[in-house]
Parts: sequence; structure tokens; C-alpha cells
Amino acid sequence: MPARNPAVASSNIVAQLKAVTFSYRNTPNVLENVSLTIPGGEFRYLVGPSGAGKSSLLRLLFMDTYPTDGSVLLFGSDVQKTNAKERATIRQKIGIVFQDFRLLNNLSLADNVALPRLISGENLQVAREEALELIRWVGLDHRINSAPQTLSGGERQRIAIARAVINRPKLLIGDEPTGSVDDAMGDRLLTLFEYLNRIGTTIILATHSKSLIDRFPHPVITLEDGRLIED
Ligand code: ADP
Repeated sequence: MPARNPAVASSNIVAQLKAVTFSYRNTPNVLENVSLTIPGGEFRYLVGPSGAGKSSLLRLLFMDTYPTDGSVLLFGSDVQKTNAKERATIRQKIGIVFQDFRLLNNLSLADNVALPRLISGENLQVAREEALELIRWVGLDHRINSAPQTLSGGERQRIAIARAVINRPKLLIGDEPTGSVDDAMGDRLLTLFEYLNRIGTTIILATHSKSLIDRFPHPVITLEDGRLIED
């Protein structure tokens, strides 16, 4: 058998942290010498006590912030060596679900969900049809004509998830994405994530829910006090 081509092997790495140290302005280090490799196709949970640095690590993975030391690679590119156009291309491959849902109140629910699809060049009618299908999937078709600001926290979270997945992102990053929904809806959303994972989306979810991990088992990355704990 021919030797594996290292260039091909490494091209399957979706995200990589190399000896990353990170602090906010005038704070002690929030992440300390974290190295982590996420190959394409993985589904991993990120766990750890509150304040361990999970959200900060996720923010590094979608270029919301940058390391103080060390490097972050996304789809093979060192993010601090990319230009604005390259970063825009990388961002289009990433879906994110934040703890605050950041829906646009002046757009309909369907258009909130359709927006990433429109930005990536799909026509309005197709994007809206896909958005409606996902809104049905997250169980909110009865709310389709509601203004975003009239939705409950859990409903907004479900819309944010529909928006995050509509582009079938290569990488989906979720920060407690099922934190405001009940177990039945959490299971439905995890089923959607697992479906996306099977068709090629790499998934990293921060969660506090041990029962979620038990119901949908995947490998776990543990952070404690800004340091990675081996599994
Ligand atoms: P987790 O998601 O595990 O709860 P975070 O990454 O949110 O952890 O926070 C890690 C540490 O960084 C905490 O001590 C938190 O107070 C601090 N922190 C988070 N965001 C900021 C910020 N914008 N400015 C200063 N410190 C922050």
C-alpha cells in the first residue's frame, strides 16, 4: 500500500489550535497552551465548569477573537495570516449558534433563517423554501408570521439553529445550543445535528448537559481553568 500523503491527510483537518494562549485585555490567561486538532467529520462536545474558557475557545474557532499566543488554523489556513477576503470565505463554511441569538428583528423569521443562504448566492425563492423546511423541522411552522422579538428564548434558539445549519456548514459551532429547550426538543435538535454530521458537517458543541451526552454519545473535550484535560 502506498504511504499516506501527509498533504492530503492534513487537508482533512477542519480546525486546529496550536499552543494557544488567550487573554482578554488586562485579564489573566483564559486559555493556557491549548493544542487541539479536529479532523473533518468529527462530532465533539466541549465541557468544563463555568469560566473554564469554553466560550472563548469557541470564539477563537469562528474568528470572533484571535489568540494572544500560538495559532488557530481553520481549513488549513492560519487565521492570523489570512486577508479579509479569505476570512470571509472561511466564515461562509462555519455555522454558529450563540447563547444570545442575534436574530434580526426587522426581518421575518423565514428571512432570518434564509439570510446565510442569500449571502452565499442562492436565489430568494429557493432560500425561503429551504428556510421554511428547516423552520418546520425545528417545530415552529405555527410561528412563521411572528416577529422575532415575540418568540420565547427557546423558540429563538431553535430559529438560530435553523439559520446556523441552512448553508450545510462544513463546521458547526454551538455554545449551549440546547440550553433553553426541553429534553424532547433537545433530542430533535441533536438528531438534526447528527444528520448534518453524517452528511459531512464537523460539529463542536459546548454543553453542560451530561444527559444530552449520554443520549447522543460523542467524544468529549474537557477544559478546566483554561487548560485541556486529556480524555
Ligand atoms: P466558559 O464558557 O467556560 O464559562 P468563558 O470563556 O466564557 O468560559 O470565560 C473564561 C474566563 O474569561 C472567565 O473568567 C470570564 O470571566 C472571562 N471572560 C469572558 N469573556 C470576557 C470578556 N469579554 N472580557 C474579560 N473577561 C472575559
